[in-house]
Amino acid sequence: MTPLKPGSTIGIFGGGQLGRMLSQSAQKLGFKVHIYDPHTDTPAGRISNFKSAAPYEEMAAIARFAKDCDVITYEFENIPTITISAAQQFTPVHPNVKALQTAQDRLIEKTFLAQKADAPVIDFRKIDTVEDLHQAVSELGLPAILKTRRFGYDGKGQIKIDDIDEIPAAFKDLGGKNLILEAFAPFVREVSIVAARDHNGNVKCFPLTENVHKNHILHTSSSPTSDPQNVEETAKSIAHRVLDALDYVGVLAVEFFELDGGKLIVNEIAPRVHNSGHWTMDGDCADQFEQHIRAISGLELGDPKPKVSVIMTNLIGDEIEQIPAYQGKPNTHVHDYDKKEVREGRKMGHINVTKPLTDR
Ligand code: AMP
Repeated sequence: MTPLKPGSTIGIFGGGQLGRMLSQSAQKLGFKVHIYDPHTDTPAGRISNFKSAAPYEEMAAIARFAKDCDVITYEFENIPTITISAAQQFTPVHPNVKALQTAQDRLIEKTFLAQKADAPVIDFRKIDTVEDLHQAVSELGLPAILKTRRFGYDGKGQIKIDDIDEIPAAFKDLGGKNLILEAFAPFVREVSIVAARDHNGNVKCFPLTENVHKNHILHTSSSPTSDPQNVEETAKSIAHRVLDALDYVGVLAVEFFELDGGKLIVNEIAPRVHNSGHWTMDGDCADQFEQHIRAISGLELGDPKPKVSVIMTNLIGDEIEQIPAYQGKPNTHVHDYDKKEVREGRKMGHINVTKPLTDR
């Protein structure tokens, strides 16, 4: 692909914090940004050059938006695929619809990972009836995790089953259809790889990142991290295979469970920039947002090798009020998403604390 000229317009579906940080990177690279979001006042829309406020199902508005953009991307994986299909009639969209469809449904995702990307996944079963669930529990054992196939995030849409008595309630609570049962992964820690692939198939990965969750929401991401079981190269090669199998352009995250003994299991993939890559913004390298914009606009990928070590801590809900305590501290970088309403469990900002690489 011929690289987009400076002044070209990058369209982004979604006006949240990821859209905002993508916009900042796009503008630094000399592009203009057009945000499409159903809401009029959004974190990304507030700093963008242009914005469209319309539903994701409004085909005429999508067509107008797409015609105004030179390339389009999206910041979240629950965007309807019809929106992407409509937009790409006029303008290229990256990542492609296949990546989106794959990541939107845990059953399709796990089947794809195992069959097309040679990526290890946890044992799983498709569940549509309570009988399916009883059968699956007898095969996978307990504990196990029952999840909705679609629209789950930050631990929503999933229930851990410890005892067979809990089966009927768990089945009912999750809607009683379109579910998946996963065996419980006895992980020692959770790690991820954030990687970018360009139009020519070149892949660049950020280093292995260790992620700690609190109440099912990402709390901290650290990079570099110790790697006593030598999993980093395996994790990177799995990410590479996933990107190739999807013929992917842009940044993608692969989340893993690391088991005792060094086996990695892919938990899920995210076809977008990812919270576990926010540390890269202060890693003194090409960060994940820049890499994504570079990839989709046909520019060469940057150097993802960080020159400092970084710990990212999310500010969730009213933790955003802690910002004054961090402001102005040495080696501390405050990222406030400028969200107008504080809500419990809502990602409001993050803090990156850096140290020289040799200190850890
Ligand atoms: P998810 O929404 O699938 O990313 O799951 C959220 C969190 O729940 C993960 O980061 C894990 O901490 C935990 N979890 C999800 N699936 C499993 C599993 N099969 N075994 C053990 N823990 C899990």
